[in-house]
Amino acid sequence: MSKQIGSPSRTRTIMNQYGIHAKKGFGQNFLTNPDVLSGIVRAAKITKDDNVIEIGPGIGALTEKLAQAAGQVVALEIDESLLPVLDDVLSPYDNVTVLNRDVLKTNLAELVQTAFEDPTKPVKVVANLPYYITSPILFSLLASQVEWAAVCVMMQKEVADRLVAKPGTKDYGALTLAIDYRMDVKVAFAVSRKSFVPAPNVDSAIVLLTQKKAPLPVAPFNDDRLFGLVRGCFAHRRKSLWNNLKTIVGKDKERLERVRLVLDQLGIDAQTRPERLSLVEFINLTNAMHDQGLL
Ligand code: SAM
Repeated sequence: MSKQIGSPSRTRTIMNQYGIHAKKGFGQNFLTNPDVLSGIVRAAKITKDDNVIEIGPGIGALTEKLAQAAGQVVALEIDESLLPVLDDVLSPYDNVTVLNRDVLKTNLAELVQTAFEDPTKPVKVVANLPYYITSPILFSLLASQVEWAAVCVMMQKEVADRLVAKPGTKDYGALTLAIDYRMDVKVAFAVSRKSFVPAPNVDSAIVLLTQKKAPLPVAPFNDDRLFGLVRGCFAHRRKSLWNNLKTIVGKDKERLERVRLVLDQLGIDAQTRPERLSLVEFINLTNAMHDQGLL
């Protein structure tokens, strides 16, 4: 069999043969480091029992590795001009389907039900993400209501740092909380910019997200309300929590007194910065403010 797609020489050959120029607008940086490709498949613990969705197969470097390890692979590629290339280079594999789709306009729950031969098998998302839409993709994966067995994705290192940030650090924010609310997150390994053609301007990391093992230690509440409050509190992260809450509830004195009461009851210092609050504190704050008719 010819050399694997994800090597510097074969990538160069394919790009020359098909006249491919990486499109910046689609976030195209092709992986050419075989160790990184194997590392991703290992980190995602792909087995022949897995259904895999790949976002953005590019010229197929990761797709090929996934085809070798997984039961079935469905790859979504927005760039129509790559379809004939993928068709060719992936022809040795009969367990791969490439669809010309924008992942952000795809109903993922429906895709899982229709594209896989056995949709009851574990479904994993594996991708070297297009960095310009990393957060929207993560949010659409979470919003899809699919029980992902794992989401193992390459992203810009700075975004990975935000996903695993601890309260009180500069990287901690609405994105950290939104992901932490639903998934356990760990950085599997860092990836140098030299592993890609063309090399991006930033270093990267492989992040593994899995369903939360321990449920959140708090009573049910409304997600929209929680994240409305979180976004509101991080709107001015250099301001105190109190000043952010004032913007959210308005200037009415009596309402502000109720906010004061809620903070006292929860033992939260009004002058603290919102970035010091943990996910559980945000949930408790949401519930208590709702009980007081403030949200
Ligand atoms: N998987 C390949 C690799 O590792 O070499 C390519 C990764 S490249 C960083 C990102 C890929 O995502 C590109 O192929 C790009 O065309 C594709 N892409 C960009 N936006 C997309 C979208 N909205 N939906 C699906 N694919 C997209």
